[in-house]
Amino acid sequence: MAEGGADYSADGNAVKSVVKSGQPVGQPKPKKANKGQAKSSKTSPKVRDVTGLVDRPNSNHPLDKPLTYLPGIGPHKAEKLAKLGLLSLRDALFYYPRDYIDYARQVNIKDLVPGETVTIVATVKRCNCFNSPRNTKLTIFELTVYDSSSRLKISRFLAGGHFRSRGWQEKQKRLYLPGVVVAISGLVKQNKYGLNIDNPEIEVLGGKGDAIDSLTVGRVVPVYPLTDGVGADLVRQAVVAALPSVVELQDPLPRALREQYTLVELAVAIAHIHFPPDTDALALARRRLVFDEFFYLQLGLLRRRQAQQQQQTTAQMAPTGELIDAFYEVLPFQFTAAQNRVVQEILTDLQSTAPMNRLVQGDVGSGKTVVAVVGILAAIQAGYQAALMAPTEVLAEQHYRKLVEWFNLLHLPVELLTGSTKTAKRRKIHQELMTGELPVLVGTHALIEDPVKFANLGLVAIDEQHRFGVAQRAKLQQKGHNPHVLTLTATPIPRTLALTIHGDLDVSQIDQLPPGRKAIQTTVLGGRERADAYDLMRREIAQGRQVYIVLPLVEESEKLDLRSAMEEYTRLQETIFPEFVVGLLHGRLSSAEKDAAISAFRDQQTQILVSTTVVEVGVDVPNATVMLIEHAERFGLSQLHQLRGRVGRGGSQSYCLLMTSSKSEVAMQRLKVLEQSQDGFFISEMDMRFRGPGQVLGTRQSGLPDFALASLVEDQDVLELARTAATNVLAQQSESGGDGLTRWPLMEKELARRYQKLMGGAILT
Ligand code: ADP
Ligand code: MG
Repeated sequence: MAEGGADYSADGNAVKSVVKSGQPVGQPKPKKANKGQAKSSKTSPKVRDVTGLVDRPNSNHPLDKPLTYLPGIGPHKAEKLAKLGLLSLRDALFYYPRDYIDYARQVNIKDLVPGETVTIVATVKRCNCFNSPRNTKLTIFELTVYDSSSRLKISRFLAGGHFRSRGWQEKQKRLYLPGVVVAISGLVKQNKYGLNIDNPEIEVLGGKGDAIDSLTVGRVVPVYPLTDGVGADLVRQAVVAALPSVVELQDPLPRALREQYTLVELAVAIAHIHFPPDTDALALARRRLVFDEFFYLQLGLLRRRQAQQQQQTTAQMAPTGELIDAFYEVLPFQFTAAQNRVVQEILTDLQSTAPMNRLVQGDVGSGKTVVAVVGILAAIQAGYQAALMAPTEVLAEQHYRKLVEWFNLLHLPVELLTGSTKTAKRRKIHQELMTGELPVLVGTHALIEDPVKFANLGLVAIDEQHRFGVAQRAKLQQKGHNPHVLTLTATPIPRTLALTIHGDLDVSQIDQLPPGRKAIQTTVLGGRERADAYDLMRREIAQGRQVYIVLPLVEESEKLDLRSAMEEYTRLQETIFPEFVVGLLHGRLSSAEKDAAISAFRDQQTQILVSTTVVEVGVDVPNATVMLIEHAERFGLSQLHQLRGRVGRGGSQSYCLLMTSSKSEVAMQRLKVLEQSQDGFFISEMDMRFRGPGQVLGTRQSGLPDFALASLVEDQDVLELARTAATNVLAQQSESGGDGLTRWPLMEKELARRYQKLMGGAILT
């Protein structure tokens, strides 16, 4: 997947430089000559309404006063600030810096030492900005500066269409005209061309001959996210003017709670996040504000879970019985310890009067389906119906086959309902569901289409749940009376991410594979080794095995993609493997055509299946032993791991070949993770480190809150604390009998303030 607009060197964290100045919190006079910052034009930051109150109700609270109330901010400036979502004093206070420039760490160029975070103040000699002649995706930005001691060339490699625009490049050159004085701040690194400052923060201090504002020099200056037409001085001016009103800020967290979790007071945190007196104060301020971001989210999620648990399900189900016993009898294998544990967790849920809402995370092939089947049988045993929903027809079909195989032995009818089920069949299924004759239905989202009515739906199992929206899940739930819901996912996500997006679910992990599975031999290959890859394939096919070749969708246009997939398919069939039959599978085929392609592969009529990522989810052909992935660097690690999981499903040694022509060291390091690990949890953790939480979830997943400061990579400890704190707050029953939150009206108000917009207010209901 193209990572548009990414800056290779960006680490995405707000607080980067080590601040050590010993200066008290103060209010530097806004500068006049400042024309903006290098990074300000990098992206126009999304307007983030930190308070969640763009259309806030009329309020007399002093912090809700408009910014025009501040001296020096007239309607014209206020209008500009509104572009950043800054309307009130509160907005300005909660508009956190993205970074800091630390003038206390100012050094001369000749004294730069790799590994240190420093600031230099120097004069521009030359600014160069051009597209890389070698890599069509990269733009190179070079800034040569000098001070009285020496000269330095700073280079940045920027990826993304934005940087390639002439407009952007010209703007840089205008900003950094020769003679302009700049402050440059960041980590000093040694590369093969000499010293460089990594991912630097560059601020224009003044033009030729301007007097440099002495207030900035020697102190820590906050750097704010900006947007076009809103300069750094303006934001700084607004924040500085608003800062005295922090005294009006009431801390929603009671003192006892703050002391228990060693959190500084909110007003102090806000003051110090803007103008930290020293490193420690900044760290404490940040910790408090990160805590808040996590805390209110957990509070919302846990309260929602509590509300769900207070609902009554009609379906209490016994954990044992004839059907479950019989299933264990016919099953050709023993459950792993992890499977047993998770089955117990599910069966315990099912005995409760509260509806189950459990997520089962488990690696590819860890055996989630059988575990779900035990739950399904518990439902049927108790006289209810069950449904199993999958995101694609291919996957639904496959589940259906499995279930038929097992349920025939138990004399239980099971049917499949998808978009391509014939009308007559469909009618029959609807009929049998309504009478209750049909105990189990497998299907795609066709399951939740309107005419489908169950007599008595007691349990819903949803496979690969991240592919379904919340609305679709809710719709299926409404087919019964608060049925139990079990969701399965083979895309494990790091715990911080799980707590953030599934914080309202109970989570079970199948963290063990069935015995006898051989590790899949994984190798990263460059273009020159392609012939070796094809040789391996021929050898495997000669032994009766089968092979997948996966092509990423790369171009912006689907049509182009399809054409390149077709071309590659033709090349493979006609030039490379004329002696074998090659099949083709892609998203544009009709479901019948997809089925045909997969059936042909399953029945070994084709030896090679060329596919787009359609095979990613759940396709199960145990005879396939080689998975070759083209342009592997374009995929996320978790997705590659998923694709790899299509092989190694039988008893034989399997291989995963990751083809890449990427020269990027980071890309190589990333891919090497797969050579070394087969643990989906570890891989997703690494994926998140490399690409960030949003990318790990993919675009299909909505609902990841837009944290201003918190990092799901760095702040796991604070998240755990916040979760505990939220749990404790909710556990305290109030005298009125409401949940613990009603005892703390300020906290409840803050929760509403933050989340009435975010996630569509979903976590407040
Ligand atoms: P997942 O959905 O977690 O990827 P499946 O439920 O499809 O995995 O199981 C993968 C394969 O392993 C299936 O063929 C299944 O029947 C088999 N299987 C599941 N559990 C076990 C076990 N404990 N021992 C042996 N084979 C198992
Ligand atoms: Mg599965």
